[in-house]
Amino acid sequence: MLRIALQSKGRLNEKSLELLREAGISIEENSRRLLSKASNFPVEVLYLRDDDIPQTVSCGIADLGIVGFNEVEERAYPVDVLQHLGFGKCRLSLAIPKYIEYTGPDFFEGKKVATSYPGILRKYFDGRGISCEIREIAGSVEISPSIGLADGIFDIVSSGGTLVQNGLTEVEKVMDSDAVLVGTPGLDEEKMKTVRILMSRFTSVLRSRGKKYILVNVPNDRITEALEIIPSMKSPTLLPLADKGWSAIHAVVDESEVWEKADRLKQIGAEDIVVLSMEKLII
Ligand code: ATP
Ligand code: MG
Repeated sequence: MLRIALQSKGRLNEKSLELLREAGISIEENSRRLLSKASNFPVEVLYLRDDDIPQTVSCGIADLGIVGFNEVEERAYPVDVLQHLGFGKCRLSLAIPKYIEYTGPDFFEGKKVATSYPGILRKYFDGRGISCEIREIAGSVEISPSIGLADGIFDIVSSGGTLVQNGLTEVEKVMDSDAVLVGTPGLDEEKMKTVRILMSRFTSVLRSRGKKYILVNVPNDRITEALEIIPSMKSPTLLPLADKGWSAIHAVVDESEVWEKADRLKQIGAEDIVVLSMEKLII
């Protein structure tokens, strides 16, 4: 039985559970419970504050965890980063009041910066030989400059809206982050077998995100052109139609390119374009 630590509430909770669900793992969702077993896969879920996940996984109380890469870097407990999961995307950046002129990272020499991520920031400044006073605060970092607590801030940014609302400008991106699957270093072979199955299911789920399945009928003399528009992953799936002179092509395309590709296919004489949502892509 593998134990996987997930955020109990907050930005990553829903998406982590959704990933497990899409990977075919049924967890009884009762947020009051600290521990829930899956009914159809040898895992149980341990719900924690995200701050505690790296340590819990590092010392083996949980074998796996899903947590922001920023938390993994900040806590600096030894864990294996097994997979980037592509959700919970954000960046950690330095920002200063917008009316102040920025001259490059040396701007921060002798200044004060407020953050909830002192570890990552210390590493960044040390790596550049900049001596800056880091003021660790737990929340509402973005108001620090306006109340005179700091000259700048170092915080999570996604859209940048919070910075603008507080009269701040992002001046340096220090790292990108997304949710990651982490594991206890040195898990035994028995557990690793299950981890590998889980990871390959996650890969299938993640691969199918943002993809569509397209079926299209093409006159046989336009097949080569059609395959240039919708290239296949391996070898093209081509099926002859009962109507001689026509074939059906099946392919997987990015959702963002569906309309553009459909228009081009029509221009070369393709007909009956069917676009289906893709649930899983198991390779
Ligand atoms: P907890 O109660 O578990 O300690 P928290 O308040 O520390 O939760 P959340 O705000 O739920 O944390 O964010 C969890 C993670 O989501 C962050 O560590 C980060 O990796 C990611 N994230 C993505 N976008 C954002 C964003 N705009 N603001 C904050 N975190 C974000
Ligand atoms: Mg937290």
